[in-house]
Order: sequence, then C-alpha cells, then structure tokens
Amino acid sequence: MFELSPDFFAVAYLIATILFIYGLKGLSSPRTALRGNGSAMLGMALAVGVTLMSPEVKSYTWVFAGLGAGAVVGTALALRISMTAMPQLVAALHSFVGLSAVLVAAGTFLAHREAQKLDMTSMIELGVGSAIGAITFTGSLVAFGKLQEILKSNPLIFKGQHFVNLVLALSMLGLGVHFTVTSDLMSFLGMTGIAMVLGLLLVLPIGGADMPVVVSMLNSYSGWAASATGFILGNQLLITTGALVGSSGAILSYIMCKAMNRSIVSVIFGGMGTTDAQASAGSQAANKGVKSASVEDVGFLLENSSKIIIVPGYGMAVAQAQHAVKELVDVLQEKGVEVKFAIHPVAGRMPGHMNVLLAESDIPYDCVFEMEEVNSDFSAADVCLVIGANDVVNPAAKSDKTSPLYGMPILDAYKAKQIFVSKRSMKAGYAGVDNALFYYPNCSLVFGDAKSTCEAIVAAIKGA
Ligand code: NDP
Repeated sequence: MFELSPDFFAVAYLIATILFIYGLKGLSSPRTALRGNGSAMLGMALAVGVTLMSPEVKSYTWVFAGLGAGAVVGTALALRISMTAMPQLVAALHSFVGLSAVLVAAGTFLAHREAQKLDMTSMIELGVGSAIGAITFTGSLVAFGKLQEILKSNPLIFKGQHFVNLVLALSMLGLGVHFTVTSDLMSFLGMTGIAMVLGLLLVLPIGGADMPVVVSMLNSYSGWAASATGFILGNQLLITTGALVGSSGAILSYIMCKAMNRSIVSVIFGGMGTTDAQASAGSQAANKGVKSASVEDVGFLLENSSKIIIVPGYGMAVAQAQHAVKELVDVLQEKGVEVKFAIHPVAGRMPGHMNVLLAESDIPYDCVFEMEEVNSDFSAADVCLVIGANDVVNPAAKSDKTSPLYGMPILDAYKAKQIFVSKRSMKAGYAGVDNALFYYPNCSLVFGDAKSTCEAIVAAIKGA
C-alpha cells in the first residue's frame, strides 16, 4: 500500500486549523455563528479523516469501535438534551477531554516505561498533560453536578481552604518533578490523584452566580489538556486545536470576569462569590411587599408606550417563550412602539444563550443590544419588560456589599419608568438571592409561565 508523505498531513492539518480559526471568528457574532459552526465541522471532518489515513493507525478495529460508541452516545445525548441543559452538557464534555488527557498520558507512559524511550521533554509533557487533565476532569464533574443541581450550587467553604489548596498544589508540583526525573509510577499516580482532588476543591467553593466564568475557565483548561496530549502524541493538529480552545476559553473567561467585575485570579484559585447573604434572602423576601400586575395592565401600558426594552433571562429559555416574545414584538412594532432587547453577558445558562433563542425566533439582530450599548437607554424607556430574568437585573449587585452578586454589572432595568417582571413565583434566580428590584415602587410582577404570559399579553393587545 502506498504511504502518504508527511507534507500531505501537515498541509491537511493546516487547512483544518484555518477552518477552526474561521469557525471561531464566525462564532463571535450571532449573524455569522451558523457559518462559523459549519466551517468548524468541516475542519473537524477533515482532521478526523486525515488522521485515520495516518501510517501510525495500525488497525481500525478499536478506532471504529471508539468512534461508533462515541457517535451513538453523543447523538443520543445531543438529541435528548434541552437548550437549557446545554451548559451542563458542555461541562460533562470538558470532563471527558480531561479524562482522555490523563488516559493518554498514562497509556503512553506505561507503554514506553520499560523500554526507557521517554526523554525528559516527553516526561514533562506527560506530567503536565496528566495534571491539567486531572484538574479539568474533576473540576468539570463538580461544575456539571452544580449546574445539573445534583450538588448544591451554594459555595462549599471550609476554614483554611486556600492553605490546603496551596499544600496540594505544591505536593502535586513536587511529585510531578520527581516523576519527570525518576519515571516513578507511584509519583505519577500520586501527582494525578492530587490534581484530581485539587480540581474538586477549586470548583466546590464557587457559588452559583460565578459558575459561567468557571465553565469557560474549565473550557480553557480542557484546551490546554488537549494541547499537552498533542505534544505527547506528536500530533501538531491536536497541539494547535488545543491551544485555540485554551486561548479562546481564557479570553472568554477574561471577558466574563470583566463583565461580572470578578478577578480572574480568584477564579483560577477558587473561592470567589462567597458570602452568607443567601441564607438570609428568603426571610427578607417574606418581610417585604411586592405589587403584581395583570396581563391586561401590561398590554395596555406596552401598546401606549413609545420606547420599551425587553430583558430576557433564563426563564424565557425554560418556558421556550421566544416565539411568543417575537409575536409580542410584532404586535407592538405594528403599533409604532420602539422595541429593544437588552442582553446581559451572563443571562441564561451559557454565553450567548439569549442571542441563540432570539435568533431562533427570527427577532431582527438590529433590535438586540449588549449591556454596554443599551444601559444608558433604560432611563428613557417607558416600560422595561423583564422576561424570566432575575440576577442580571438585581440592583443589589450595585449597592449591597453582602450580596454574592455585589460588583457584577447589571442591566439598569430599575431606571425605566415602569418595570414588569414575568416569573412564576417569588423564588430566587440562579445566585439564590432575593431581588431588590421587585420591591421598587415602579416595579410589578406578572406571575405565571413566561410563554403563557406573553401569549396572554398579545391576546390582550389584539383584543383591545
Ligand atoms: P436567573 O437564573 O437569575 O433567574 C431566572 C428566573 O426565571 C428565575 O427567577 C425564575 O423564577 C424564572 N423562571 C424560571 N422558569 C420560568 C418560566 N417557565 N416562566 C417564567 N419565569 C421563569 O436568570 P438570569 O438570566 O437573570 O441570570 C443568569 C444567572 O445564571 C446568573 O446568576 C448567572 O451568573 C448564572 N449562570 C449563567 C451562565 C451563563 O453562561 N450565562 C452559566 C451558569 C450560570 P420563578 O422560578 O419564580 O419562575
């Protein structure tokens, strides 16, 4: 059988990398996201196809068994998963990347240990790959557990946590150095085991509201783990792809930290967003009064407004209310009302969650504004309609130093002349804290499922 030249692989991998970069660029805007995804998929098909032609692949049995099993599980999961559960799916996938980095490192080490074929550089690659992979694996499992609500989203904190983390990190490093110098199996296992404990301890203390940054940070770690695996396997494509995921995840984490006014250092070392304010939230809510409004009241005010701003949040995703919201926008625009959407960077449960839903219901992009573009418009808005959003409009983030949300920039919904909030109950949002906005004199709650509420508002306007 003829053998393909190394140049063929290098060129094919280069084209795949370019397609990935083009894909990432496309994902930076909802307008081009579909095209970006298409390009990344093409790149991945090319990468997998070309890798299968590599002379290093001696037998296809295990490769196709793995591909087949992965494809069956992946397809079943992707078909069943709802949009609102996407972040936990992403967290679970990151844990697989981490685990595979550990397994590749362990497999390579065990296969070559006896023959002593591994030089110092390879040993460093193995150590780094396994350590990052192990941290990513268990950290992502905790993130998955918290997002899936198997674990409590509250921060789990204990005294001396940072000291314990420091001791663990230093032990991991020490064992890692010992491993690279001596090729000792026990040091490898010890280092990997400690890295797994560290992964748990870094994510457990992180509370609900800060989880988006952690998910994107773990995304970045999984990229670096893949990149380290690429060095171990001598595969340039895995190195560049891992580096792309690692650096884009790190940039996203930085952007999210800035948007939430958090320090990236505290995300990396764990334990941010930790106060005991959550416990008191429920009792505070019970002591204060809130006003409620009927859908007829909302419909009347909306159609008699000239400028309104809609703030969508996680509840809109849960209710799948985006099509009803679109219908509401159409009715209002027909009546000459100016409608804008205000999108908070962490609204929903994953970056871009709201943009995806609004795009799905064909809401024009020119009505959709990011937080910094739209925040100054709230004071001129006649009505702000908050649909299933909670934490991202909580003014306590500006004023209450004890709140876990303190410091996170919010959408200034409270500045609108009138605010209506569509939600089902007085329950808190993801961060588990009471929302000061609900008690503002210009705010009324419209209780009920967001989809039914929007449909009823449309019916009220049409019937008027
Ligand atoms: P929140 O989670 O703060 O609030 C969502 C609100 O929606 C709840 O108060 C809930 O109230 C309401 N709701 C739920 N179901 C329905 C329904 N069927 N109809 C109407 N309302 C409903 O959402 P936000 O979008 O404001 O904030 C996002 C939060 O999630 C932030 O704290 C963010 O940090 C966090 N997060 C974000 C991620 C991201 O990447 N974007 C990832 C992980 C976490 P009720 O139950 O009373 O109806």
